[in-house]
Amino acid sequence: MAELIIRGGMIVTVDPDWRVVTGDVACKDGALVQIGGAYTPTERDYDILDAEGCVVMPGLVQSHVHMCQTLARGRADDLELLDWLQQVVWPYEAALEAEDVAAAARLACVELLCGGTTCVLDMATVRHTDAIFEVARAAGLRATIGKAMMDADETPAILREKTRASLDESARLCAAWNGAEDGRLRYAYAPRFALSCTDELLRETARAARQAGVLIHTHASENKDEIAEVERRTGMRNIEYLHSVGLTGSDVCLAHCVWLDEAERRLLADTGTHVLHCPSSNAKLGSGVAAIAELMEAGISVSLGADGAPCNNNLDAFLELRLAALLQKSRRGATAMRAPLVIRMATLGGARALGLHDQIGSLEVGKRGDVIVVDMNVAHAVPTSDPYSALVYALRSSDVRHVVVEGSVVVRDRALITMDVEAAIRDARARAAAIFARGARGS
Ligand SMILES: [Zn+2]
Repeated sequence: MAELIIRGGMIVTVDPDWRVVTGDVACKDGALVQIGGAYTPTERDYDILDAEGCVVMPGLVQSHVHMCQTLARGRADDLELLDWLQQVVWPYEAALEAEDVAAAARLACVELLCGGTTCVLDMATVRHTDAIFEVARAAGLRATIGKAMMDADETPAILREKTRASLDESARLCAAWNGAEDGRLRYAYAPRFALSCTDELLRETARAARQAGVLIHTHASENKDEIAEVERRTGMRNIEYLHSVGLTGSDVCLAHCVWLDEAERRLLADTGTHVLHCPSSNAKLGSGVAAIAELMEAGISVSLGADGAPCNNNLDAFLELRLAALLQKSRRGATAMRAPLVIRMATLGGARALGLHDQIGSLEVGKRGDVIVVDMNVAHAVPTSDPYSALVYALRSSDVRHVVVEGSVVVRDRALITMDVEAAIRDARARAAAIFARGARGS
């Protein structure tokens, strides 16, 4: 249906004036054509979503997830980062066949879309990345996806790639998928992190990604042992090292950045590098609490992500909203990280990291129609009248009622209409059992 009207909600626009207005949001041919007031359809054939008593807002953007890891949920609890990787996550990823990756991605898409996340930046595993693109295409998710690249001797042999082969496979995927589905799907080069990559791979990745005009997505400075090891190998702090091989800039997205010194912070600010904040993951892996309030004060672009199911264990943007606010308050006092800032981080912030801020991240006429409708008429949010307060501190992902991507309804009255949810859950459960039965460790 070309014309869609989201009728009668309280609209949190996240526009430059922070406007909150009431009325209709209308999409035509995938784009937003009216925000607020009463919309009169221009065609005879149109669709209506009821938003009475609801908040209408931009779709949530998660700038750091691993959809392929969903089948290892609950298998890697209570471990530090490097043990978590070596004992569970790498053996799990090594055991994945293409159909397992597809099942993991389907489960992830159910959780993401039903919970109001319309757009992700995803790091896949080393193999079978086409399967994730296929699932995102069918599910209706807006996604920038990249295969994990890892060629260092220290990585497990079963996942280790030859440098050239890693670059060639990335280039093939980029050519096949970047810009697919009218731009809804895009590619990002994704070297896993400094310790899993050779110097040559990182330098060549920077060159190849820029030649193709696509993003670079990696992990950085998540854990103290990790940065000590980077320093031992390179003689440099992690961010200084990434800068030295070309991996800073407005096209570079760095997950975590928990352990930075002042010079590294300045480097991120000066180069316009994006920080992808994953509060639940950082807390659960015992990595620490990123100094997000200070990064934002320094003018660094920060966005939000759930990371992966084995380290969270949800892909729930609402849990991240709440924790992002609460953790900074516990560091800096109750006035830090106010609710509107957190909402902007999870919408426009994510869009900016992805280089999509002229297309999504706020409800403004001319942008793409990525919109969610969240029910405020629930006991745990009543009688809150401030929508920012409700969204960050009270509402839950299960309160998401409708989800629209590119002007198409994906979730209507809490029912995902692009996928068979029961089949996705059944398949995920069976495949997870089989993967761990055949040797991927994890309790
Ligand atoms: Zn991650």
